[in-house]
Amino acid sequence: MLPYSNPNHDFAFEQAVIGMALISLDGSILKVNSALSDLLGYSQQELTAGASQEDCSIRALLNQVVWNTRATQDQQQSITQFEYVYRHPSDREVYLSLRISVKEELAQSFRGCLVQFEDRTLLRQLMRQLELKEQKLNEKENSFLQLLEGLPLSVLITKKGIVHYVNPAALRLVNAAHPRDVLGISTDVVVDASYHNALMKRRAKYTESGEIGSVDYLIRCLDGQEKMVTGFTLIINYEGEKAAVGIFKDITEQQLEEDRVMQSEKLTTAGQLAAGIAHEIRNPLTSINGFVKLLRSAERSNELYFEIIESELKRIELIVNELLVLSKPQSVHVSGPIDVFAIMEQIITLMKVQAALKNIEIIPHYPMAPVFVQGEVNQLKQVFINLLKNAMEAMNQGGTITLDILHNAQEVQIIVQDEGIGMTQEQIQTLGQPFVTTKDTGTGLGLMITKNIIHNHGGTMNVESIPDYGTTFTIHLPAL
Ligand code: ADP
Ligand code: MG
Repeated sequence: MLPYSNPNHDFAFEQAVIGMALISLDGSILKVNSALSDLLGYSQQELTAGASQEDCSIRALLNQVVWNTRATQDQQQSITQFEYVYRHPSDREVYLSLRISVKEELAQSFRGCLVQFEDRTLLRQLMRQLELKEQKLNEKENSFLQLLEGLPLSVLITKKGIVHYVNPAALRLVNAAHPRDVLGISTDVVVDASYHNALMKRRAKYTESGEIGSVDYLIRCLDGQEKMVTGFTLIINYEGEKAAVGIFKDITEQQLEEDRVMQSEKLTTAGQLAAGIAHEIRNPLTSINGFVKLLRSAERSNELYFEIIESELKRIELIVNELLVLSKPQSVHVSGPIDVFAIMEQIITLMKVQAALKNIEIIPHYPMAPVFVQGEVNQLKQVFINLLKNAMEAMNQGGTITLDILHNAQEVQIIVQDEGIGMTQEQIQTLGQPFVTTKDTGTGLGLMITKNIIHNHGGTMNVESIPDYGTTFTIHLPAL
């Protein structure tokens, strides 16, 4: 005698949209509804007759049911629920959610349980698709991140000015060793105070969306180094909030190069101008000189005037001669390997007498082997002359001037060190500007010419000086 033989109960069992079965404790199907027969792919008769129960899929399912029922009874519970993947006779997988009721009255009436089967296949498929989508999204995010990490441009993401992400290039830009050194800090720590106004104005725009346009900033790296950067900002959604992505590039070198080009253009113009003026002055100067000599031999009464005229003419001649050096070809055409030391020796010989008169000793330190640079002999000689002359003029109390030539595979250094009056920091700033001199008879052109020649030889010049102690000029030239 089966339970639910009440016709109302039978009707409810048969018409239920989910699969239902009464299963005995030994695993025989006593009764199934049509929903379950659809679900399992066997007719109701096949399922209850026992023939289908020989099918291993059905057998395995029933074993699971029995096992779970026993476990539920052992734990003195009346309901249990589990998931099961059933292989349908058409060979597709059906995801089932089973709910077993082992009520006292069921157990008593037929020693079995009521099992409800719910088809979760569609749900599972949807879940799987969702998982795949999420995985794809993650992959996209990861490849985006990889792109950022490998980008040679500096990228940072900020929210309200606080850094939330930096890529390795950005770390290198600010000389930081680890992201934790910059994450969480405000960008105004890095951007120089002189650019804070621009920074604030841009931040105010961050509330709008889209591109904010490009900007240049002077930044201060974590170790204090200053750099010039250029870049632009985009507004994006980052982790659910509005954020600014800054993409920046270091243009310090580029700007230095531009400055150099500008300086070199200025020098070229100055050189051309100087050449023109010098030639114009030279001819009248020669004729004035001649006439003064004539006048002087005829007229004896105004001796003092003549002396003044002559000394002034000498001064003009000096300036003209220095200017003419500038008019020499700007770029180094006649270039061959030049032995720097040989030049140094010639110049020392030339200036030794003058030095001795002022109680100055010139001490050269010889390099082990000849040192060669690419260049123009006369121009390089001019450099030595200008530096030695200045050193001697700075040493009215006498002393020593040392000359060193150092070299490695990349460069040759020529170092001129004196024990003269030295220079203040302000004086050093103006070095090389034309006509800036502290001497009564100076022209203020020597160092400008020197710088120009070194520049044309692809080199640079450094000055270190301590007032009342001495000055060191170091020239760096590319090694041959
Ligand atoms: P000038 O020698 O005609 O004054 P320079 O261009 O050679 O012109 O030098 C410019 C100025 O730089 C000098 O007047 C001097 O004040 C300073 N100066 C250059 N070399 C030295 C040095 N070795 N020691 C101290 N001051 C120097
Ligand atoms: Mg000089």
